[in-house]
Amino acid sequence: MPSDTSRPEEPRQEAFGYTCALCLRCCYHKHIQLNPYEVARLARQVGVSTTVFRAEFTQEGAGKALSQTETGACVFLGPEGCIVHPNRPLVCRLYPLGREVSNNGEESYVHLTPHPQSEGTLSKAGTIARYLEEQGAAPFIQAADAYFYWHCRAIGQLQALKTDPEADASDAEVATASAFRLLDMDVAIAGYCKDHGIAPPDDIETRHALHIQILDRHLMISASEGIADVHPAHVHADRDVQVEPR
Ligand code: SF4
Repeated sequence: MPSDTSRPEEPRQEAFGYTCALCLRCCYHKHIQLNPYEVARLARQVGVSTTVFRAEFTQEGAGKALSQTETGACVFLGPEGCIVHPNRPLVCRLYPLGREVSNNGEESYVHLTPHPQSEGTLSKAGTIARYLEEQGAAPFIQAADAYFYWHCRAIGQLQALKTDPEADASDAEVATASAFRLLDMDVAIAGYCKDHGIAPPDDIETRHALHIQILDRHLMISASEGIADVHPAHVHADRDVQVEPR
């Protein structure tokens, strides 16, 4: 297939601009995917734990996508727009772009089809890089990548468990349930900090970094000891995340 020679090799240097007209049409009938970092930021804005947030504001309480009202509106769409705008998820920041990451870490951007009656204006006035900066996307992209790569490692480990002739058939199910429980950031951090006698960090970025380390160590311990269900107390944080002793 011929390559698109009109697009620069560095995806973020592609000419792009978008001005939202606040017509609000783009916040209906959309799958607004979430990762634990986004859940944590939204939960803090709403004033609840990540556990409560997942149960009350995400589809099937799974923490993977925002709920919608009966009209198809995002649960956070107010009469004048997004009521969680400072903490809106990455997909909302990127729209009408979509971001894809390959297994080898290369990113690319796709142009989504806006709502047919959208009043937003597309242009080539800037670059994708500038658009990402305007949208404050950097910490969200970093977090999305961190969870994506963890997810890839977890899937690989799960598949190995499923094909291991010496593993019990229920091991894979237990491992999935165990990892799912740890994806609730407040649960994972509370369990880890309680059992290690340290105060949970308050800063969201620090909590996110600790969360990734808890998840990583969970996989590592599971793999090295052949244990599918590892309690957060057995997981040790790396040294670059600062948590104060209680
Ligand atoms: S989080 Fe905000 S910007 Fe995103 S779909 Fe919901 S209302 Fe729209």
